[in-house]
Amino acid sequence: MPVPREEPPPESTAVTDEAPPAIDPLAPPAPRTCREALTQRGVVFADAAPSPSIVDPIKLSPLLDGVEFRHQANARAHPLWVDCRFAERLHRAAGLLRARGVRSVIHVGTYEPKCVGGTGDAGCKPSAHALGMAIDVVALVREHDTLSVERDFVRRTDKSETCAAPRAGERDAFLKAVVCALDGTFSVLLTPNWDDKHRTHFHLALHPPGRAPWANGVDPLQPLRAAE
Ligand SMILES: [Zn+2]
Repeated sequence: MPVPREEPPPESTAVTDEAPPAIDPLAPPAPRTCREALTQRGVVFADAAPSPSIVDPIKLSPLLDGVEFRHQANARAHPLWVDCRFAERLHRAAGLLRARGVRSVIHVGTYEPKCVGGTGDAGCKPSAHALGMAIDVVALVREHDTLSVERDFVRRTDKSETCAAPRAGERDAFLKAVVCALDGTFSVLLTPNWDDKHRTHFHLALHPPGRAPWANGVDPLQPLRAAE
């Protein structure tokens, strides 16, 4: 009896043989870390020292998508000490700002080890700055001018919604349009309309979800503050 000749498998079979194993629908998706996402977007960063309050601390290049982030006190921009997840949002914000002609963001701090409302008997509830999840912006630099939050953002103290309020000139309109366009990139955005402490800057922060579900958006508590 002749030995059956071994035929090469038809092409379709070969493809089936090389197909990846079936995916277990219960298996978790492949991990894709925050740092991998930053690297894929070409964001430059380095490890930062471990922090008791920042989950994933990194030192982020202050040049993000062509926009420079510089501390007001420094002549040159230094790396930003933030949580990786906040770095992703800053990078996204940089793209939005660049599209509007912003070249530099002047700030007065990202990470700061401070507690919400100071340290009281209940201990420290770390602020978004202590979590590496916030930046305080004092000015935006365009090609031919610089817009100051303190000088050019026209405050309203009537508790009207910041993003729906009438504008008072191009500079005020520009600043309000920017902060309102960043709603969603950041979860909490406080403007000079919020209170006297924010008279000079925008507080742009990513608060952990569920921490304060009502506290989302631009000046989120304004309509509620009277009822608090
Ligand atoms: Zn702040």
